Parts: sequence; C-alpha cells; structure tokens
Amino acid sequence: QSVWSQVPQAPPDAILGVTEAFKADKSPKKLNLGVGAYRTEEGKPVVLDVVKEAEQRIVNSPTGDKEYLGIGGLPEFCRLSAQLAYGECSKVLQEGRVAVVQSLSGTGSLRVGGEFLAAHYPHKIIYLPTPTWANHNKIFPNAGLEVRKYRYYLPRTRLLDYEGMMEDLKSAPQGAVVLLHACAHNPTGVDPSPQQWEGIRSIIQQRQLLPFFDSAYQGFASGSLERDATAVRMFADAGMELLLSQSYAKNMGLYGERVGALSVVTTDPKTTKKVESQLKQVIRPMYSNPPRHGAAIVAMILGNPKLYEHWKVELKGMADRIITMREKLHQALVDQGAPGDWSFILKQIGMFSFTGLTKEQVTNMTNKWHIYMTFDGRISMAGLSASCCSYLAEAMIDSYK
Ligand code: PLP
Repeated sequence: QSVWSQVPQAPPDAILGVTEAFKADKSPKKLNLGVGAYRTEEGKPVVLDVVKEAEQRIVNSPTGDKEYLGIGGLPEFCRLSAQLAYGECSKVLQEGRVAVVQSLSGTGSLRVGGEFLAAHYPHKIIYLPTPTWANHNKIFPNAGLEVRKYRYYLPRTRLLDYEGMMEDLKSAPQGAVVLLHACAHNPTGVDPSPQQWEGIRSIIQQRQLLPFFDSAYQGFASGSLERDATAVRMFADAGMELLLSQSYAKNMGLYGERVGALSVVTTDPKTTKKVESQLKQVIRPMYSNPPRHGAAIVAMILGNPKLYEHWKVELKGMADRIITMREKLHQALVDQGAPGDWSFILKQIGMFSFTGLTKEQVTNMTNKWHIYMTFDGRISMAGLSASCCSYLAEAMIDSYK
C-alpha cells in the first residue's frame, strides 16, 4: 500500500482538461475550441517569424551564455516591458515610480503579485469580476488573499453590467484590491468603453481601492499595442498606484517559454526600490530566478526598431485573423437561419467568444458534434478556421434547440 493511497483524485483542470478529452476523441471532425492558443488557418500552432529571427541572433551571439539571471530577471527585458505597457513618454517611468520584475508569464506575475500583497499590503481582500479566467479563483486564495466578486457581465444583455460593477466597487471596503482585465476580458470578450473605464477609474480612486491589472492580450485584442494599453495608461497617468501583470504568451506566441513581467507603480523612487527588493524576496524561495531564453527573445524584439516593426505586423495579422473568424461565424449563423441576434459575436473582443451555451448545450456540442470547449460556453476564436465555421454554426443551432 502506497503512503499516498489516501490522496483523493483531483478533478481535471477546467481549461486544460478539455484538451485531454479532445486528444482522446477519434472522430475526424473533432474541433478543439477550448484552450486559448492561436492557430493558423490550417489549425497549426505558429512560431512568429520575428521570434525565429531573434532566436537566431541570440544563438549566434558571442555573449549568449546560459548563466543564471538575477532574481528579478533580465534588466533590459524589465525596462522594455514597462515601456511597452505604460508608454515611452510615460510619467511614471520618467519619475522612476515603477518596480518591475520578470516573471513566469501571466500566471507567475499574478501569483508573485498576490504573495507580495499578502505580505506587505494591509488589506487582504481582492475583488474579481464575475465571471473571470478560472485560474484567478485559485491563484489569489493560494497566495493568501480573500477573494470577493464584483458584477461584470449581464447574460441577459450580453453586455457589461456597468451599474452592478459600480455598485459593487462603491460598497467594497476602502483599500481592497480590484482585479481588472486590461483588455479582451476572458471569458466574456466584453470590455468597458473608454467612458466606462473613466467611471471605473474614478470610483476606484475615490474609494482608495488598489487596481491590479491583468494584461494577457496587449496588441492581440485590437491589433494595436497602444489601444489595448488604454486602461492601464489612463490609471497610471491619473497618478494612481497599481499593479500590472503582463504576459507574452499570446502577443508573441511564447506560450511555453513562460515570459511575463510584474510591475508595481508607486508614488516615489525610494518606495519603488523598497518594493522591488520585496518582490525579489517573494521570488527567491519560490524559484530563485526566471528562465532567460524567452526574456532574451522579448528584449531583442522590443529593443530593435526593425524587429519591433516586424512584430507589430505579425501581431496585427493574428488579431485580424481572429476578427475575420468572428465575421465568418456570424455570417454562417445568419446564412443557416439561426434564430435570434448574433451580433454579440462581432462586438466581443479578443481571443474568445462567450456564446451563451449552457453546460447541457456544451455537452451536446461535444458528445454529438465532437466540438470541445469549456463548460461556460466559451469558444476560442483563434482555434477556428474558415472551413470549420459552417460546421460550428450547424452544431450551435442544433445545441440551442
Ligand atoms: N490572465 C488571463 C486573463 C488569461 O486569459 C491568461 C491566459 O489564458 C493568463 C492570465 C495567463 O496566461 P500565461 O500564464 O500563459 O501567461
């Protein structure tokens, strides 16, 4: 008998479990719209050309050794990541008010941020939108924070529940942390308008809440790095303190390289230094220091004007393909006479579409049609190709019956 025989079987992960089920399906028609990873029109994963070029340069560089990075990661990577998020001429950067560390992609940034808050911030409550990316619900309690919810999405209208969100933020205890998706809200694809962002920002400032932005899709949502950074910059430019998690998984296609950054905006350079020292205290006993290859790729691309321009073109290409898939799926539903208004598919932004399919309907999509997706009815538009839109529409119409 094993010493582990009493260990209970854990349930499969809500998102990664879908891929497991997909792999086991033998049907030639099968379609995986579960996981949020970009695919080509042929359904293949991609390595961006600009990433291949940066990798070549790194491999051929005489200084390309494999020494450990410092606890906070590659300094050039950190500097350029902050510049990408806050903007080249940003006041917070000019004034030395941003502490930055390299992290293990978005997830690692959120976890390090959560641990830092639990250790050094007096208020241990974090508000998450309903719904949100499933992992948020695990990351923050595991870091030692109490999770509460704010209203975000109204299924009836398929729009932002702005009033509900504002009410919940108004009644949150002073000092509480508020997690905000910087753009392309996952899973709903519903973002506040610029006016609504201004209202949210103002209430957060008035109530002295602390914003924690999760930016997993900068440039990938709209195709513009600037536009997708609007909310973060609006808050930072208003003189607010905040935390920001950045991921290069989607926008550079560096998923498995695990490259990201965590930054904390403070009020002055002295505090920034102290905060940075404490972020390193969180990192050291967890994994000592981050991996260097992915960060070297990002630093090379962000720091070289030619590569940077090339990246922007490829990034826009990915964003545009997703937008085209929205149009094609919408058209297929209309052409096949799907009852109701499907324009929400066109209005939603980012990698996902929140279809409104119930758990039972998702089960029908999978069991009868071999289409795999998460039980909340979210489909990855990036996993879709033009040739599959008609089949998907047919399955959706059948499941909605
Ligand atoms: N945050 C959100 C909202 C996401 O959708 C994701 C990925 O799906 C992440 C964070 C983190 O991803 P990663 O850890 O791969 O960067």
